[in-house]
Amino acid sequence: MSEPMNIFSNQSLNLEKIKAIGYDMDYTLIHYHTHLWEQLAYDTLLEYIHNHYTPTPNLTFDPTAVIRGLILDIELGNILKVCQFGQVNTAYHGHTPLSSAEIDELYGKETVHLAKERYVFLNTLFSLSTGCLFSQLIDANDRQQLKQTYTYYALYAMLKQATVYTHLESKLKNTIMQNPEKYIDQNPLTIEALKEQKACGKKLFLVTNSNWQYTDAIMSHTFNQSCDHKNWQSLFDLIICNAQKPRFFSSDQDAFMVDTATQMLKPCLKISHEHKIYHGTNAHLVEEFLKTSGKEILYVGDHMYTDINVSKRVFGWRTCLIIRELESEIQALNDYQTTIQELITMRRQRNQLTQQINRMMLDADLHQMPLLNIQSLNESVHTLSEIIVKYEEKVNQINNKKWGLHMKVGLQKSHLARQIERYADLYAAGVYAFHYTSPNCFFDNISRPMPHEINFWPL
Ligand SMILES: [Mg+2]
Repeated sequence: MSEPMNIFSNQSLNLEKIKAIGYDMDYTLIHYHTHLWEQLAYDTLLEYIHNHYTPTPNLTFDPTAVIRGLILDIELGNILKVCQFGQVNTAYHGHTPLSSAEIDELYGKETVHLAKERYVFLNTLFSLSTGCLFSQLIDANDRQQLKQTYTYYALYAMLKQATVYTHLESKLKNTIMQNPEKYIDQNPLTIEALKEQKACGKKLFLVTNSNWQYTDAIMSHTFNQSCDHKNWQSLFDLIICNAQKPRFFSSDQDAFMVDTATQMLKPCLKISHEHKIYHGTNAHLVEEFLKTSGKEILYVGDHMYTDINVSKRVFGWRTCLIIRELESEIQALNDYQTTIQELITMRRQRNQLTQQINRMMLDADLHQMPLLNIQSLNESVHTLSEIIVKYEEKVNQINNKKWGLHMKVGLQKSHLARQIERYADLYAAGVYAFHYTSPNCFFDNISRPMPHEINFWPL
């Protein structure tokens, strides 16, 4: 199956017109074994909460408890899967599923909007561990297994504070630096893709929030063997660490040169060709250095907000989202394509039959027309509906028994899918996917038709 290797486009994009390509590092150029990383994060957070806030019952990490793209409702203690229109489709209170009636009562008049304080989008570095532990703490709180009864806001605040107070990210990164083979999950084609882009005259630059020590250790481990002079830095025209995205894009934060021998920082007013490695800086200075701007720059990252949304919104850079889950998502679609097709066909049949029945009833009322076959038609709708419910259950459990596919809510697009469509010009499962296309490829996107155009607008 070749699809996971593809780059998918939401908007037309001619790579020939791209002069510079910027890369995020963590989960973009460097992939980690997510479950190992999240297990470490979970253990660290749980230990801190247990020691500093409240004793907790015996809890263990469940990597399938949540998926990327879900939304926490920290007011009511619910975990939500939301469709593209902001309506809640699936909800769990802790680990207890909410019925359709309960969802309707709580969210029937509510459009879930991420600007509201009560909603937290699971799109951070520690989404799986945080989401899993939050749902477990909700259950423990409701069963009065904690030191006191907390509000759900307080439980979430506890988790957030634990993330900061444990210096979680640096703790994990120290563990990874000591044993990179165990945690890094690398595709050898990533470096091929970078070399091809460079050979085609693209300027390459790295913008990572990680510090220099970690960046150098991990990039050296992963890429040095395949680089000129056995040095990964030869791949890039510019390397920026501690970028503090999104501030890198949204402010004029100061620039510092990194002295790699002493780890000392030296303030500077601009980025120069005499020095390659910087700390902080901002996107204005990068554009000045690259002598290009806006649509001639492509930025590739895995974080919907700090990499994709803000770079496009503030600077008009073209964007490519790396979404690792795409590999298993496409595999699952392949495995279940017959089921999905059959469900769509049955839903269409039921819709046609229902319309036919409604028309007949109306004609009988208004024009005293006979109700021929009405009973058999009603039976067909009833039978179809029973089968459809079973199929829908199956489709809603593809890839994850609780949450189903990342990009779908039933047969609709999920909130995550809508965000990808809106902010990412391109998306792919990994940077390696660029190896399967030319660095000057033209992604000619012909947008999907509106419902009224379907008969006239072939796909
Ligand atoms: Mg990243």
